Amino acid sequence: MKKGLLIVFSGPSGVGKGTIRDLFIHREELNLAFSISMTTRKPRAKEVDKRDYFFVTREEFEEQIKQDAFLEYAEFVGSYYGTPKAYVEELRNQGKNVLLEIEVQGALQVQEKVDDALSIFIVPPSFEELERRIRGRRSEPEEIIQQRLAKASRELEMMGQYKYIICNDDPQLAADLTALIIKRHIQTAQ
Ligand code: 5GP
Repeated sequence: MKKGLLIVFSGPSGVGKGTIRDLFIHREELNLAFSISMTTRKPRAKEVDKRDYFFVTREEFEEQIKQDAFLEYAEFVGSYYGTPKAYVEELRNQGKNVLLEIEVQGALQVQEKVDDALSIFIVPPSFEELERRIRGRRSEPEEIIQQRLAKASRELEMMGQYKYIICNDDPQLAADLTALIIKRHIQTAQ
């Protein structure tokens, strides 16, 4: 069986990656699997352990680093986030195209390690709109919001490192464009 693609789906926090992903991940022809990351961040109100993230303590995360269990990991606004390597490999070996929804530092690590990774970066229509979305979550203190905004502006400078850049003006259109790019890559990989 042909090994599945590795898709790096990235962009600043709050840009709407999750909303866009929900609009294309179930399309059968894309044969996608979502890579569930591990994080030390506390769960938000509607988040579920082992569905949205594997929520762990810093000690547990650092133990996984020691075990070399991550394809990539990064510290983002005071919390760790990482992609479990074994899980991704298992899915790809089953022929699944695996979607990593990750921030920029991690995305660059993956691109260095996996040369045929397909990288897609989502940009907001404007920085003001991004700020509105980050504030709209109402789940974090002002200090963290400020850190996320500062981080977002540095992340936007890195968009040139990605193969495709899509503006999230309209989530459905962004999802359709992402699906089209993935489909094209599946066809050329065959
Ligand atoms: P949030 O706290 O908003 O869920 O995530 C913060 C940022 O970390 C987002 O940009 C999200 O895509 C990213 N992220 C989620 N999982 C991972 C991961 O496994 N590795 C890395 N490097 N970033 C991740």
